[in-house]
Amino acid sequence: MNAEIIAVGSELLTPFRADTNSLYLTEQLNQLGVEVIFKSVVGDDLKQIAAATQHAIFRSEIVIFSGGLGPTEDDLTREAVAEALGVSLRRDAQVLAHIEQRFATRGWKMSPNNAKQADVIEGATVLPNANGTAAGQWISGRFDNRERTIILLPGPPHELKGLFECECRERLRAKLPPASIATRVLKIAMLGESAVDARVAPIYKRYGSVQTTILAGAGEIQLHFRSRAQTMEAAQARVDEAADAVEEELDDAVYSRNGESLEQIVGYWLQMRNATLAVAESCTGGLLAERISSVGGSSRYFVGGAVVYSNAMKTELAGVPASMIERHGAVSREVAAALAEGVRYRSEATLGLGITGVAGPTGGSAEKPVGLVFHALASDSGTEVIERNFPGDRQRIRWFASTLALDMVRRKLM
Ligand code: ATP
Ligand code: MG
Repeated sequence: MNAEIIAVGSELLTPFRADTNSLYLTEQLNQLGVEVIFKSVVGDDLKQIAAATQHAIFRSEIVIFSGGLGPTEDDLTREAVAEALGVSLRRDAQVLAHIEQRFATRGWKMSPNNAKQADVIEGATVLPNANGTAAGQWISGRFDNRERTIILLPGPPHELKGLFECECRERLRAKLPPASIATRVLKIAMLGESAVDARVAPIYKRYGSVQTTILAGAGEIQLHFRSRAQTMEAAQARVDEAADAVEEELDDAVYSRNGESLEQIVGYWLQMRNATLAVAESCTGGLLAERISSVGGSSRYFVGGAVVYSNAMKTELAGVPASMIERHGAVSREVAAALAEGVRYRSEATLGLGITGVAGPTGGSAEKPVGLVFHALASDSGTEVIERNFPGDRQRIRWFASTLALDMVRRKLM
């Protein structure tokens, strides 16, 4: 079966609030083996919601609404769906009593506009809301001669989740033929999207029953695999077969096969090798330390770091000789190596990382352009330095640099 989600609310059309309910619903539907084929966001406008409803019931077997079930003038989902279906609303005495009671137990007086939350679409089953006054509604029937299920859920995420779990999941499962969707994510560091795509596209072709998506971020590519089958075991087997083949092709560029972050993987390897890490960062300004320490339990392997922006601090905290900075410049292979070695020596960590570069937008020159970053990893076997020219704005360059540095640690330890 397929489904469609309509998020209602003018606030979701502003830059200040994103529709996250549909992400939750998509995950839940996928777990039931239902494919989401269309999503939309509609403002609090009766005509627009009604029009969206008509399109939705034309193409999708299950249509789920989120939001617009509140008591105010601009909460119009009930009215709009009734209009689109060509049926009327009736005020439900039981729902009304439930709302009145919720107010009474809190010692509040119900305002008259709350009564409209007791309006139920003709033919709908009321889905009681344990966390709020807006009841959900479930309509199963034939519309335009098509068998459809239409579900209205409230917008506040905890209310929507509560209602889905208690009232919708089992009802939906009862309607569905057995089907499961398995997914898997491979993450790849420091390879370009087109380079990855060129290598994996021929493999994808061999696994027609597996849907694949490539998602690119700064310094990271994610490959998503999805497959549906009658049982979870069968779906998982297909996904694993395709993912394993891709992993074999990309080899050690794949840092995660179960969704872990690069920070987590680096932490895993440091613990595996009983190693510790210290960092001295210039252009990333603490981003590297922040990413490493964002992982729970990182105190077991992360000693700490220094943000050494000025030349004086590079000397003071990481022991970089002032003469070296003068001779080669702060952004140089030599200084990166000295940062890594200095912080390793002073912290007595197993590994030291150093980063220095030009994050921009100012400060670049012909010789040392914006985006030029030196990354160094010091260990008892010596110091490795990688020089890169990253594209993008300041934030992207900093993210790239921290990602490459983390990946150097991973490659060193694996
Ligand atoms: P009520 O008014 O009774 O709280 P409602 O069904 O009218 O319920 P909305 O008024 O549409 O819900 O939304 C209430 C709040 O829930 C919004 O301010 C917003 O914070 C959140 N919300 C609504 N829709 C979404 C969504 N799709 N994703 C994430 N949050 C949402
Ligand atoms: Mg609203």
